[in-house]
Amino acid sequence: MVIASTKKLVASINFETIDLIMNQLNHSNRALVLFSGGQDSTTCLAWALSHFSHVETIGFHYGQRHAIELEMRPQLLQKIRKLNPSWDASLGEDHLIDLSVISQLSQTAMTEDIAIQMQENGLPNTFVPGRNLMFMLTAATLAYRRNLNVLVGGMCETDFSGYPDCRDDSMKALQVALNLGLDTRMRLETPLMWIDKAATWRLAESLGGEALIELIREDTHTCYLGQRGQLHEWGHGCGTCPACELRAKGYLSYRSQT
Ligand code: ZN
Repeated sequence: MVIASTKKLVASINFETIDLIMNQLNHSNRALVLFSGGQDSTTCLAWALSHFSHVETIGFHYGQRHAIELEMRPQLLQKIRKLNPSWDASLGEDHLIDLSVISQLSQTAMTEDIAIQMQENGLPNTFVPGRNLMFMLTAATLAYRRNLNVLVGGMCETDFSGYPDCRDDSMKALQVALNLGLDTRMRLETPLMWIDKAATWRLAESLGGEALIELIREDTHTCYLGQRGQLHEWGHGCGTCPACELRAKGYLSYRSQT
């Protein structure tokens, strides 16, 4: 009885149906990673390459003081390809988008040569209002054209600077808004949302071993001031800005646990 109905089902599947199913499967495996060239987004890229069959990257020029991170991206992408043949096969186009309108709209320590300090509203003046929202909106617009349906970002609310647009609720609300506004079905993935910086290093190790750890340590950029300087145990940077402090603390905690 079961065999007969299975045979009937198989007979009813034609090539058109198989094509349709394969297209849907392929579509659900196509991701766009917000890739700045920093520690978090490089870990997210490795995560995406381990989960999806086709992965493209997007970076933004928005007048950031640490524009050096953009210079690090091409060589980072080349080195990531060499770490794993399957990653090399999955990694597609890189897109660099000009969002300099952000620096025209806001005045922050991330885009202006002013001292980093806490503001009256309890947020550091490195917070760029709307930045991550614009990043995701821009990424979704590109993903729509490129037929990519997963957006991957390194937002995290566990071990972060308190930026409200890094919070899980902001991302979930944005996913709903994007899907309604674009009449599509995109998924926003944030693999670092609930882990601290030490766990982010551990995640990188689990994805790409010591080779990926070394690549992230030496070739990614995190320092807000855009300084490369000497290579510390935890990577390059000024060593005193909030981003360097967070990165160093996370790395030392990771190493003390391994
Ligand atoms: Zn720094």
